[in-house]
Amino acid sequence: MKATMKALVYGGVGKIELKEVPVPKIQKSTDALVRITKTTICGTDLGIIKGKVPTVQPGTTLGHEGVGIIEEIGPSVRNFKKGDHVIISCITSDGSCEYCKKGMYAHCEDGGWILGHLINGTQAEYVCIPHADNSLHHIPAGADEESLVMLSDILPTGYEIGVLNGRVKPGDTIAIVGSGPIGMSALLTAQFYSPAKIYMIDLDDNRLATAKKFGATDLINSANEDVVKKIFAETKDGVDVAIEAVGLPATFDICQNIVRPGGNVAVIGVHGHSVDFQLQKLWIRNITLTTGLVSTFTTPMLLKNVSSGKLEPKKLITHHFMLMDILEAYDVFGNAGKEKAMKVIIDAEGVNEPKAATTKKRELAEI
Ligand SMILES: [Zn+2]
Ligand SMILES: [Zn+2]
Repeated sequence: MKATMKALVYGGVGKIELKEVPVPKIQKSTDALVRITKTTICGTDLGIIKGKVPTVQPGTTLGHEGVGIIEEIGPSVRNFKKGDHVIISCITSDGSCEYCKKGMYAHCEDGGWILGHLINGTQAEYVCIPHADNSLHHIPAGADEESLVMLSDILPTGYEIGVLNGRVKPGDTIAIVGSGPIGMSALLTAQFYSPAKIYMIDLDDNRLATAKKFGATDLINSANEDVVKKIFAETKDGVDVAIEAVGLPATFDICQNIVRPGGNVAVIGVHGHSVDFQLQKLWIRNITLTTGLVSTFTTPMLLKNVSSGKLEPKKLITHHFMLMDILEAYDVFGNAGKEKAMKVIIDAEGVNEPKAATTKKRELAEI
């Protein structure tokens, strides 16, 4: 195996670079070295570059999503072997601490969200995964690799933190504020429970049109319409579940203003500022407010639904790039509105192939 590899390295606020770095080595007996085949960029990565996550040290390889093939395992790894095809969970967990025993892997005492945050991540040719037995998932033979990249983070996040925390039930009226990849993941997985009405709220008409194709029943462009007024005109007294999938005070505000008595506000967005929580109005309304970092305990269930074709996360993929062109991929993903981008797939195999032959674009409209 070669000694160095290409990796997308954080260089401090506003700086990223595709660099040649040493290939990681197994450090603990529970580690696995994975050769990445496909990875992607998350909104959180853009947040890191903007300086929103100061715990990321310059020199860290970014990325917490991806699929790949096991290259080497530590001597204590029991569930995986060299050559296994795996999904890398964005959450690393030892499976044995107090939090893990409750299924709250997000808060694992020797893990949690560390990939591309506190340790080197997946936007590279290889990544070392700690606690491999509990942090990787086997890919069934014949499964579509690209679809499964969506299972590292966005589908479990939309489902666990939006739909499950929001307690979406059959017949509910729900509203999802923000139709980026996470909002779309909540939209796709909320439909497991047959809500009667799904409002999708965004500033981007193109994204709203995509949401309609993915199952939203009602669209509101919050740039042109007063969301609160419209929802109160069309419902008895607001929505049963309001899912916040942006991470701004304004989008939180919409959610707290449209939830009906007894309803749920499920916050998924990564918030960088305090919000104006109207407790003086809400205390009497019996609402439930939830927040959270995904634990990915639903990944095996989601994998079954993707394998059977019930859930089609491939629909979220709009662009493809080679790892060599990852800076261009960041440009496109960072200008998602203009570029009509949702999720971009980065192919980490064949890093030296020429760009023209391998970069292709697919419009959502074609799906
Ligand atoms: Zn993410
Ligand atoms: Zn743990």
